[in-house]
Amino acid sequence: MKTRPLFGGTFIILITMVVIAIAPITIFNIQGFKDFFYSETEIYLIESCSLIKNLFPAYNSEDSSELESFADHAADSTRLRVTIIDDSGLVLSDSHNIITEMNNHADRPEVVSAMRDGIGTSVRNSATMANEMMYAAVRVDFRDSSKGTIRLARSLADIEERISRITRNTLLAGFIALALAAWVSFLVAGHVSLLIKKIKVTSRFYASGDFSEQLMISHPEEIAELADDLNEMGDQLKERIEMIEEQKNELQLILDNMTEPVLYTDKDLHLLRINGAAEKLFNIQEENHKGKSILEVFMNSELNSFAEMLVRERLSKETIINLDLPKTFHLEIHGTVLFDNSGDNVIALLLVMHDITKTRKLEEMRKDFVANVSHELKTPVTMIKGYVETLLDSPERDPAKTDEFLQIIERHSLRVEAIINDLLFLSGIEKNDSDSLALEDIPAIDLITSAVTSCEPNAEDKDIKINIECDENIMMNVYPLLAEQAVINLVDNAVKYSGKGTEIFVRVKPGENGKTCLTVRDQGCGITAGQQERIFERFYRVDKARSRESGGTGLGLSIVKHIALTHNGSINLKSTPGEGSEFTLCI
Ligand code: ADP
Repeated sequence: MKTRPLFGGTFIILITMVVIAIAPITIFNIQGFKDFFYSETEIYLIESCSLIKNLFPAYNSEDSSELESFADHAADSTRLRVTIIDDSGLVLSDSHNIITEMNNHADRPEVVSAMRDGIGTSVRNSATMANEMMYAAVRVDFRDSSKGTIRLARSLADIEERISRITRNTLLAGFIALALAAWVSFLVAGHVSLLIKKIKVTSRFYASGDFSEQLMISHPEEIAELADDLNEMGDQLKERIEMIEEQKNELQLILDNMTEPVLYTDKDLHLLRINGAAEKLFNIQEENHKGKSILEVFMNSELNSFAEMLVRERLSKETIINLDLPKTFHLEIHGTVLFDNSGDNVIALLLVMHDITKTRKLEEMRKDFVANVSHELKTPVTMIKGYVETLLDSPERDPAKTDEFLQIIERHSLRVEAIINDLLFLSGIEKNDSDSLALEDIPAIDLITSAVTSCEPNAEDKDIKINIECDENIMMNVYPLLAEQAVINLVDNAVKYSGKGTEIFVRVKPGENGKTCLTVRDQGCGITAGQQERIFERFYRVDKARSRESGGTGLGLSIVKHIALTHNGSINLKSTPGEGSEFTLCI
């Protein structure tokens, strides 16, 4: 439906009402005046007729000159036209016309009525006078007993003139009233429209969340009250919105400061909120994932079924779920359904997650570690036990055999000792025994020379040449014993896994962030890409037999890695199978 603006609508209605009020008054007034003048004139004519009638018994109908002077005399004193007519309609005298020029008046309506009823009136255009006239006639008796009528006539021209003057004045007054009413209507409608516009603008501000605007309207009373109500409503809305905002911020703060990932969904499992921990852990963003279903986001039917079950059964429950995103997460999930105020309908679901991936991994590592240590120790201990039992069971001991057995027992004891020493060293670093050590500035050349000297006997056995390339001015800020042990392990491995007559290069160069990088390059068997990642794990060996044969414990590189971490440094490997390996330790 097409609506009209308030100002235009009100203005038109007010003007229409004024016109409706003024028009009938004007019309009725004019008609009233006309009726009044006509009836006054008629009364005057009838009364004049009655007065004149009484004089007629003194006249003879044939005495035309006397009748003539009577008519003139009566016309002068009444200022009316006076006509005397006999009963045949013949005009006997007329104050304003020559009677011979006048035709028979028997058919004139006022004459007819007067002859019949004694008196008659009519209004019409006079054929003789050529304007509108009012006539009144009375039947009269002449002295000669004949009857006739005396007729008085009055021109209505002056009355018409007066009425049209009144009409003009009334219309003028009407127009002035209309103009005044229009002006007042214009002011009233404009004022009301302005107030409504003010209210409209303020409510739009409120709708957009800006409550700074206040309405100042003092009159009219109803609109002032409406404005006060609107201001009050604005204040209340502002207070409530601030309260909700505060609660929302508090909630957001709590959620964002929780270390546990939290997901908040509607009852159809579409995400409503994700806290910072969840965004970080799953690498998702609330603004990108809001409104999506948890199945869409996590692509995990187990999680989806768990959530569906909670909503369906209206339960709060815990479960453990593995999510592949694509990294695998082990999550302990606590799901709680939330109800509406009535407590009957589920409106949302809260999933609080606890990432137990690390705990699980540590658990697995601990199990692996125990299994590996047991396995590593089992072989030498079994050997020692076996040979000791053999020796104890042989009453007559062959000295040569006994010597051989004792050497085997010694070798395996040394291996057990080496493993235990390495384990103790490793656990020492892990427990951060470096606290008890002190960082020192030492020349890199001293550290390298000392480490290489320890490895030289084994290198000489295999005719391996160890080359050192190190600027004598390079200083290192390290835990000297740990750093030396790391270089020993690297050079020792280079010797162990290189063929006879090869060369080893130990190079020292300044690295980034004040670190120094030590590179140990050999021409040995090298390590395949698949194994490069794993060789830093405890007890991992590419070739177990070869490692054991050369006295390896499988812990050497784990120790190097831990020493690098203790110095906040790094260990990197480049290797090509068959060509050699290059380990770079930056500490
Ligand atoms: P291990 O005591 O067996 O040497 P490490 O932890 O020192 O234990 O080394 C782990 C494994 O990495 C070794 O068993 C070996 O297979 C491989 N490895 C280490 N250094 C080298 C190297 N320089 N060249 C080739 N393979 C190596």
